[in-house]
Amino acid sequence: SKAKLFDEKTDTRTSFKDVAGLEGAKEEIEEIVEFLKNPDKYTSLGGKIPKGALLVGPPGTGKTLLAKAVAGEAKVPFFSLSGSDFVEMFVGVGASRVRDLFKQAKDKSPAIIFIDEIDAIGRARGKSNFTGSNDERENTLNQLLTEMDGFGTNTNVIVLAATNRADVLDKALMRAGRFDRQIYVDLPDIRERKEIFEVHLRPIKTAETLDLDFLAKQTPGFSGADIANVCNEAALIAARKEKKAVNKQDFLDAVDRIVGGLEKKNKIIT
Ligand code: ATP
Repeated sequence: SKAKLFDEKTDTRTSFKDVAGLEGAKEEIEEIVEFLKNPDKYTSLGGKIPKGALLVGPPGTGKTLLAKAVAGEAKVPFFSLSGSDFVEMFVGVGASRVRDLFKQAKDKSPAIIFIDEIDAIGRARGKSNFTGSNDERENTLNQLLTEMDGFGTNTNVIVLAATNRADVLDKALMRAGRFDRQIYVDLPDIRERKEIFEVHLRPIKTAETLDLDFLAKQTPGFSGADIANVCNEAALIAARKEKKAVNKQDFLDAVDRIVGGLEKKNKIIT
């Protein structure tokens, strides 16, 4: 079977409105939207548009969402692949996959390339837990570095990459002209959790005016992905009981269920 290499999504549906909280990260990444929209304005005095930015933060905090929103706001195509695909699917062909990806993005530029879990290919040499051969991972990494260095000045392809382990990345990736900007995407605080609930309650039929401050208070340590999950579970729980709308108790039951899941996950890790 032929694995799908990456998704090119030219749809512009994801916008900054879909990303709750993360004010600092949004502000920083907004600059990249500006570069993509008006490259000539920024290069007119001899400056070079940055080639890449690294989104750093725990799982489920909205890194992928933010990258998609950049493409959506700038109305440019979004090409993505995941570092783990190289471990699972592209054994032996990593470098050529990277080359193909950049070629496609350049053909459609301005464009965004998004590399999720970049640590799977970008670990510092000698610190690999890549299941393929280490030489192969290094070839893939070297190809990525080559592509980033080889951009013409007017290519206008910006590479966003995500990781929750910036500390293990090869320093070569962070050198000037590569991923020289780092944007932190943290777990939401109570106020941000409330905003994330607002976003994910939009499609949900609720029975009463829910107290979002209360829900935010009930979910310390939850990521945006966990909160999206709570909203969805609550809707399913209520539907299973053949209710016409979702109420507060359904949300509390959903929170319990997600907490249970998180505890199990942590048990496996420790
Ligand atoms: P991972 O490191 O696991 O890939 P990630 O940081 O890329 O995670 P996303 O894939 O962007 O996380 O988030 C998963 C889903 O969680 C999103 O599609 C969205 O539904 C929800 N979500 C996460 N963060 C936010 C946020 N700040 N605002 C709104 N929704 C969010």
